[in-house]
Amino acid sequence: MQKGNIRVQTENIFPIIKKFLYSEHDIFIRELVSNAVDATQKIKTLSSIGEAKGDLGELRIDITLDATNKTLTISDRGVGMTEEEVDKYLNQVAFSGAEEFLEKYKGQNENNIIGHFGLGFYSSFMVSERVAVVTKSFKEGAAAVRWECDGSPEFSLTPAERAFRGTDIILHINEESKDFLNAYKVKETLEKFCKFLPVPIYFKDVNETVEAPKEGEALVEPKAINNTTPAWTKKPADLTKEDYENFYRELYPFSETPLFWIHLNVDYPFNLTGILYFPKIKQSHEIQKNKIQLYSNQVFVTDEVKDIVPEFLMLLHGVIDSPDIPLNVSRSYLQGDPNVKKINAHITKKVADKLDEIFRNERTEFEQKWESLGLFVKYGMMTDDKFLDKANSFFIMEDTQGKFYTKEEYISATAAQKNKDGKQVILYSTNPVQQDAYITQANAKGYVVVKMETLVDAAFINTVEMKWNDFIFTRVDADIADNLIDKTDAAESVLTNDEADTLKKLFEQPQDGLHITVEVKGLSADAPPVTATRPEQMRRMKDMAAVGGGMAAFYAQMPDEVTLTVNGNHSIFRSILSNTEAAQKEKLVRNLADLALLSQGLLTGKNLTQFISRSVEIMEN
Ligand code: ADP
Repeated sequence: MQKGNIRVQTENIFPIIKKFLYSEHDIFIRELVSNAVDATQKIKTLSSIGEAKGDLGELRIDITLDATNKTLTISDRGVGMTEEEVDKYLNQVAFSGAEEFLEKYKGQNENNIIGHFGLGFYSSFMVSERVAVVTKSFKEGAAAVRWECDGSPEFSLTPAERAFRGTDIILHINEESKDFLNAYKVKETLEKFCKFLPVPIYFKDVNETVEAPKEGEALVEPKAINNTTPAWTKKPADLTKEDYENFYRELYPFSETPLFWIHLNVDYPFNLTGILYFPKIKQSHEIQKNKIQLYSNQVFVTDEVKDIVPEFLMLLHGVIDSPDIPLNVSRSYLQGDPNVKKINAHITKKVADKLDEIFRNERTEFEQKWESLGLFVKYGMMTDDKFLDKANSFFIMEDTQGKFYTKEEYISATAAQKNKDGKQVILYSTNPVQQDAYITQANAKGYVVVKMETLVDAAFINTVEMKWNDFIFTRVDADIADNLIDKTDAAESVLTNDEADTLKKLFEQPQDGLHITVEVKGLSADAPPVTATRPEQMRRMKDMAAVGGGMAAFYAQMPDEVTLTVNGNHSIFRSILSNTEAAQKEKLVRNLADLALLSQGLLTGKNLTQFISRSVEIMEN
C-alpha cells in the first residue's frame, strides 16, 4: 500500500469545487461519462494499430445507481490506468491544474471552467463526499489499483481486484446532492448530455426489481440510453429523407415534419458537422420552441447558441457539433473567440448555398414552402448583408394570381414599371381581399402586384429598400393606377374648368380624423368615379406607429392623409352637375367620397354611421 499527500499547497480542493457549485451541478455526469468514452475510444484506436492485444470484448459504459449504499458508479471497459498513471493523472496533473485555476480566477465567480484545466474528473467532488476509482490498465501484466479520496489533499492508493480492463468511478453521493440518488434524475441528466455519445451507455438502478418474463415471453433486453450514431455523424449520401425526418423527431418528439434540412460538414479551417432543419412555421411567435443544440464530439454542451449561430438562423432547429468549441462554453469565451466568428459566417454561407440549390433543383416545392421559408429568408436578408447578396438568387415574390418571381424575373415581367428615376417599382398588396379594387385597376394597366402580407414584410420592405438601390416598393393603393409608377399629367377630362372646380369644391368637405386632398382627373370612363389613395411614405409611418415602432406617439396622433381622385370622365358626374337640388347633390357627392374611403378602410365610427343613414335617404328618394 502506498500513502501520500497530493502535491499542492491548497489545503482542500473543496474551495475550488465550491466554485463550480454555482453552476449546474449535473455536469459531473457529462465529465465522467466523457472520460469513459475517451478511454473507450483510446482502446479502440490502440487495438486497431496493434498496441492493445486480444479481444476487446463488449465496449460499453454502465451507470449503476445504488441508492441504499448512496453510490453512483460509472464503469467503462476502456484503457484503464496503471498505478503510475493514476498517480500522474489523478494526483498531479489535475491538482496542479486546480492550482493554476485558482491563481487565474482568484476572486472571480467564474463558472463552467471545468475541463479547461483537466479538472473534469474533479467535478465528481461537487456531488460526492468520497470518490473511489478502481482501475486496471489494458497493458499486459498491469495490476488493478484502487484510489480513494474525500476531497482533502489526502488520498490512498491500494491494490485492488478487478477481472477486466477498464475503470469504475464510484461516487459516494453527499447529503446536499441526494437528488442524484434518484433514478429519474440520473436518467434525465444522462438523456440531456449523453443522448448521442458514440459508446453505448446503459443505466441500471439496483433497487429496481425487474419482473421475470412470463412463460413463453423473452426477457426484455435492457436498451442503451443513447443513439451512438446520430444522423449528423453519417455521410449525407448514406441518409434517406426518412432518416433525416426520423432524426428530427428524435430531437424534437411530436414536432411537425420539417421543410428542408442542411447537412453541415466542414473540416477546414475548423471542424464542424451538424444538421440544421427549417421548421414549418406560419407565425413568427411560434419560432424558438425547439432550439438548436450544440455538441462537442457528440457530447451535449448547450442549447444557448446565440453567439455561434447567426441571429436569423436561430429560427432553425437541429444540431451543431464542433470539437473546436470547448465543453465549457461561457458567454464571454464565445464572444472573444475568432473561431466562433468564422463558424458563424460559414453557417450563413452554407444555408444560403443550400437554399439556392433547392431553389434551382426543386423550384415548385420551394414555392410551395415559401410561406414558412420566406420568413427565414426575409429575416436573414434584413439582418445579414452577406446573406442579402446571396439571397438575390432565391428570394421570390408571389403575385396576387399565385405566380412567383425572383427579382430578376419581376424586372423582365414588368418593363412598364420603371419610373423616371430608373427605379423598378415593386407594387405590393398587404391584403389582396381588401385591396382588390386597386389590384384590378393595376392589373388592367398590365402591372404585377405581389403579396406582402405579414408583419415581417412591413419591416422587410423598409429595410431592403434602403439596400437595393434599383427598387422601390409602392403599395397598390398608394395612388390611382395611372400614377403608381410616375405621377402623370392629368389627361383632359370632358369637363370644363368651371365644372371641374365645382366638383372639387363639392368634394372638399372636412372629415373627422382625415386630411383630404381632392384632384379631378380625366381617367378612362370605366375607371371608378372616385378613388381614395394614401401616399406610401405617410401610410408607412402610420403603420409603424400602429405597431409601436419609431415615433409612434407622434405619428399616431396625425390625421390620415388621403387623396380623393375624382374621375371627371365618369358619366355619373354629368348627372350630378346637372342636379338642381343642392342638398341632394351634396348627399350624392358625400356618398361617392365615402364609398372610396370605405374601400380604404378609412370610414369608421360616426362617419360610417352617417354614410349608412345617408344611403338609406338617397334610396328613399
Ligand atoms: P481531462 O479529461 O480534461 O484531461 P480529467 O481530470 O477529467 O481531465 O482527467 C484527467 C486524466 O485522467 C485524463 O486525461 C485521463 O488520462 C485520465 N482518466 C480520467 N478518467 C479516466 C477513465 N475513465 N479511464 C482512463 N483514464 C481516465
